[in-house]
Amino acid sequence: MMKNDPISLIIEKMKKSDEHEEWWEDYTPFQNLMGIIISQRTNMRNGLNAFRGLLSKFKTLEDINDAEVSEIEQVIKCAGMAKAKAQTMKNVARYITEMYGGDLSKMLRKNYNDIRNELLEIKGIGCKTADVFLMVAVDAKVVPIDTHIHRILMRLGFIRNNASYEDARSILEKKIPPDERKIAHILLIKFGREICRATKPFCQICPVPRYCSYYKSVIK
Ligand code: SF4
Repeated sequence: MMKNDPISLIIEKMKKSDEHEEWWEDYTPFQNLMGIIISQRTNMRNGLNAFRGLLSKFKTLEDINDAEVSEIEQVIKCAGMAKAKAQTMKNVARYITEMYGGDLSKMLRKNYNDIRNELLEIKGIGCKTADVFLMVAVDAKVVPIDTHIHRILMRLGFIRNNASYEDARSILEKKIPPDERKIAHILLIKFGREICRATKPFCQICPVPRYCSYYKSVIK
């Protein structure tokens, strides 16, 4: 990574802060995928509570297959958009059952592009969800772009507000060597949650205000 690139400076700063968690390590790939679906458009606390609620009743792909959408919806309510998320979970479980006999690991033996393309065919799974899942499940060397990372890239002038997911990802990945992308994803989200917040960012403790168009035009 280029030493004085703002993205490098942000990552260096966030590395020095508290431990970051690789939350997915304690769960199966299917549970990871359910957790990532739950985390769409919600904050961390509500997402985690909903994920715990889900696992208290439905732990496996078979459990999801056997459940009604309304039963899943009930236990993940606090994450918001619960009906749509429950339906997506059902869609995933049905797809894996029909195509792989319910064995997700068979799908995960394919290459990144093939798995990604298949996931994107499932209603409710978008690029970010697919990339986060592939990052955690098969160690894909990607930097999934969530809303925090999109905002940071925009404020730093790397992308426009209406940049596509793929463009934003490609611009960011050019700056980060493959082996550092997973940790970069985690630390950039942490930076977006804790410092470069959507409203009232803490620019006074940010390492890159001199590179930031938002700081120069809105804050200063
Ligand atoms: S200067 Fe402020 S708005 Fe710009 S990147 Fe830093 S925290 Fe975000």
